[in-house]
Amino acid sequence: MITTDGKNLILTLPLKQMSYDALDEESGEVDNLIGYSDGKNFSINQLIDLSYKGTQQLGSAYLVFDDYEELKEACDLCKLEIWEYNRCAVCDKPLLGTHTIDNQGRGICEEHEK
Ligand SMILES: [Zn+2]
Repeated sequence: MITTDGKNLILTLPLKQMSYDALDEESGEVDNLIGYSDGKNFSINQLIDLSYKGTQQLGSAYLVFDDYEELKEACDLCKLEIWEYNRCAVCDKPLLGTHTIDNQGRGICEEHEK
């Protein structure tokens, strides 16, 4: 939510959200935000709760940081977890989904598996 006091844009992001089970009943609060790092991009993102499916997904970035240290500081302050992703050893894309490890132990995206 965005408000202003006339001098500042004030952004309010809830730290927790209600989680719903498969029967659409409240099953307790879970984090609403998650730290994201892929080694080049650092942000605090929305955490999409899919507890009824037993999973959680990364949502849009709300706040972007210059480096990992800044991100870590903000996440420590707000007690947020950081999801850290590796990058494809061939094309340098972040490895967000399923990926394989090549015979040199490097992470490789689906496109570069062969
Ligand atoms: Zn690749």
